[in-house]
Order: sequence, then C-alpha cells, then structure tokens
Amino acid sequence: MLGTERKTDEPYGIAIRTYVESPRHADEYLEASLAMRDSNGTPIPGYGWMFPTGNGTVNLGVGALSTMKGFRKLNLNTLCDIYRDLIADEWEVGPYLEKPRAWRLPMTAQKRHGLGWVAVGDAAGLINPMNGEGIDYSLESGMLISDLFLQNPSTATTEYDRIIGERFDGFLRTGRRFSYLIGHPLILRSGLRVAVANQFMANMTLQVMGNLVDNSTPGAAGRVLRIADKALATADPILRKTRAKQN
Ligand SMILES: Cc1cc2nc3c(=O)[nH]c(=O)nc-3n(C[C@H](O)[C@H](O)[C@H](O)COP(=O)(O)OP(=O)(O)OC[C@H]3O[C@@H](n4cnc5c(N)ncnc54)[C@H](O)[C@@H]3O)c2cc1C
Repeated sequence: MLGTERKTDEPYGIAIRTYVESPRHADEYLEASLAMRDSNGTPIPGYGWMFPTGNGTVNLGVGALSTMKGFRKLNLNTLCDIYRDLIADEWEVGPYLEKPRAWRLPMTAQKRHGLGWVAVGDAAGLINPMNGEGIDYSLESGMLISDLFLQNPSTATTEYDRIIGERFDGFLRTGRRFSYLIGHPLILRSGLRVAVANQFMANMTLQVMGNLVDNSTPGAAGRVLRIADKALATADPILRKTRAKQN
C-alpha cells in the first residue's frame, strides 16, 4: 500500500523456525547445515540451523533463498522435519514445542520513506542474504532514523537514504549477487569446501556468517570482500541470466 514492497526481480528468502527440548540447551555452539538432502540423499534447496537458547530448549529452523534450484517446489515444513531428523540424535532433541512458524525475508524495498512514514528493518529490505539475519539491521536503522529526526526533521529522510545506502546497500547487494551463485547446488558444494579449506578461509566464513565483517572492514577479510564485490558486480548480468531454475 505504501509502495515499500520488495523489488520483484531481486532475490528474497523464506524461513521457518520452532523450538525443541535438548539436554544441550546451554552449549556454546550453534550448528548450521548448508547442504541439505532428503531421505534418498538427493540435494534439496535450503539450509538449516540450530542454536541453544539456554532454557532447556534449542531454536531450530530452516530457510531458503529464492535463487536456489527447486525453490518453487520447496515445502518449508518438510524441510524443517528433515533438518530435525538430521540433528535429532546428536542433539537428543524432543518433539516440536510449538507449530513451526514461517515468514518471508524481504531483501530489497522499492522505497524506504514517503509522506508520514519511514521503513526500517525488514520493511526496508535490510536482511543479509548470506545468513538471513536482520535483527541488527532493524535495530540500527531504527536508531538511525530516530537520531536523524531529532537532529533535523527536514533532512532526516534524505540523510537516512544516504547513510543506509553507504552503510548497507552495497554489502547487501553483493550478498544478493552471491546468492545467485550458491543457488546452483554444485557451486554451493564446491564453495563450501573452499569456505573451510584452511584456517584463514574458515575464520572469514565465520566472520561473514556472524555479521562481523563487511567490505568496509580493514584488513584481509575486508579486502577479500571488496574484491568479491567488484567481481560479482561485473558478473551481475551473467549471474542473473544463468540463475538456477526455481522449478
Ligand atoms: C524463521 C526466521 C528466523 C530468523 N532468525 C534470525 C536470526 O537468528 N538472527 C537475525 O538477526 N535475524 C533472524 N531472522 C530475521 C529477523 O527475524 C528479522 O530480520 C527481524 O525480526 C526484523 O525486525 P523488524 O522489526 O524489521 O520486523 P519484525 O520483527 O517482523 O517486526 C514487525 C512487527 O510489526 C508488526 N506488524 C505488522 N503489521 C502491523 C500493523 N499493520 N500494525 C501493527 N503492527 C504490525 C508485526 O506483528 C511484527 O511484530 C529470522 C527470520 C525468520 C523468518
């Protein structure tokens, strides 16, 4: 209604989550599976995660990017069951404590403000395609626009666009381009091998997945991202043309 819908030609995500009991509810580690397979061993689009919540339960969920092969045929509830079965023994998980709930992950927005309104967080398309995280962007964008309004209401929205553009848009655009690549199961699997090939790569993968690095970060990790940025920008038309089939 406001015109802040996602851009329909850009990638987006979907995710579902629930909670289960586990004796490992206070572990210090989370677990993620980026190469999901069905019971016949056939690769299926999507990734799963599990993290301890410290109150007797763990958060368990799965998500998928619209760029992944077979995305349109994906059933999130089935994928969630598959992931639960995958980790059931290792984490000694019980049955679902609540019906798994799913939401969309919009990764773009047509616009971020209009007469009398400003969009923050998901509504502003601020979700990292590389890990599906959006809580910190929501908090940051909300704090930013409040501060800008307090400073000068007449320039707040223009400044908001500028700062969000500088701080997040480039990085998130790189993430969306990257999602075209990992939408191909073969590239995803080879990429995963590279991502943990040595300590440097494993650290960097962890930093990217943990939202601890972006292309403005000083040092080697930031440099690698800046190079990836440029390479993916050049390859953008090819990435779109050769994207994996959603059916
Ligand atoms: C399954 C799943 C797991 C996720 N896990 C993570 C994670 O581990 N880490 C992470 O960083 N991000 C995660 N995300 C993404 C994260 O949840 C969102 O990016 C974040 O919640 C966005 O915050 P928000 O305030 O922009 O929107 P929301 O959290 O969606 O808040 C919007 C609120 O507005 C309310 N609302 C909507 N319409 C109206 C209306 N007309 N009137 C009044 N209220 C309204 C909604 O009910 C909702 O409470 C996950 C998303 C999903 C789907």
